[in-house]
Amino acid sequence: MQFNKIIGHAELKARLIGNIREGRVAHAQFFLGPRGSGVLPLALAYATYLFCENPGEGDSCDVCPSCVMMAKLAHPDLNLVFPIFLSEKVKTCEAFVADWRAIVSSVPYLDAEMWRGSLNGENKQLRMGVDIAAEVVRKLSLKSYSGGWKVMLIWLPEMMDAAMANKILKVLEEPEPKTAFLLAGHANDRILPTILSRTQLVKVAAPGPSEVAAAIQERHPDMSPADARGIAARSEGDLLEAFSMANGEEEEMFIFFRDWLRACYANKVADNVGFADYFAKMGREEQKGLMTYALYLIRQCMLQWQDVPQLIAAFGEEMEFVKKFSALLNVQNADGIRRELETAHMHLERNANPKVLFMDLSYRLGTLLRMKEAVA
Ligand SMILES: [Zn+2]
Repeated sequence: MQFNKIIGHAELKARLIGNIREGRVAHAQFFLGPRGSGVLPLALAYATYLFCENPGEGDSCDVCPSCVMMAKLAHPDLNLVFPIFLSEKVKTCEAFVADWRAIVSSVPYLDAEMWRGSLNGENKQLRMGVDIAAEVVRKLSLKSYSGGWKVMLIWLPEMMDAAMANKILKVLEEPEPKTAFLLAGHANDRILPTILSRTQLVKVAAPGPSEVAAAIQERHPDMSPADARGIAARSEGDLLEAFSMANGEEEEMFIFFRDWLRACYANKVADNVGFADYFAKMGREEQKGLMTYALYLIRQCMLQWQDVPQLIAAFGEEMEFVKKFSALLNVQNADGIRRELETAHMHLERNANPKVLFMDLSYRLGTLLRMKEAVA
């Protein structure tokens, strides 16, 4: 990963490169930023630059043997640490490293949900335990393969359990020469303060809307600039979200939601059984994602109903839906619909039976939607 492949962050990139060129490489750095902001690609670009045998003023060279190996995330001095499905048999990242390399190579803005999904482990929990830390300690004791830097990259350090965090803390307390710990994550409030105090914070802000819009246009040259700007505004700087919207994954969700709500309104019970079956077959995260999306779209409808269309982020087909659907909202039902969806999301988190929940929700939403405004 080179710096020039990363969207935005011009100032930060220049500062990071400047630090390396001036020999100021902090022993431990924490790339901290929101989801989709590029904390992982930035940490990887930093490692690539550090390993590069012929680094330029603005970026790594991309052609030396180190850069070639880094492009495959397979540099022998790059140690990768990330959350996995811990089990009796599998306690370190080794078993998952090929999968991780593959997905990060295609989706460098990856988040935990996507990583879990790529392993077909929707309902399994990603964790990092003490055996992973022991592996880090073991690798620290080995000599550097190239005679230069060793990098320990810890992705999502906020997911370390207490035992692992304590072991990592000990390592950070006794810095080894020419060893750089690069942490890349989204939440510093779930990390031991003693670890934080030993790492230099690299704050990564979400890229701006014009940068996001430009990145979408580059990937989707056929998309109209207005649509790209619309997606950029709605993604709030979350590139992962922006790319998935641009790829039309959201459209699938939209169609499901729209057709389902129509069936609820028309009280088509048989159709709703079909929707419930489909819903029950989704993974838990996908189900929660659908409820989050439904809440977003209902909020858009409420903005339309409250006559503040300038606040609406929907566009295209979604906007058509918002205009039509908002006509069904009134003081009797608007808040109830929102509450029903919020409650469903909460029950999914508590592992409710998805089919029962969905059928019940369909009935309740249908009743609310058919409710007419009381005439005074
Ligand atoms: Zn190079």
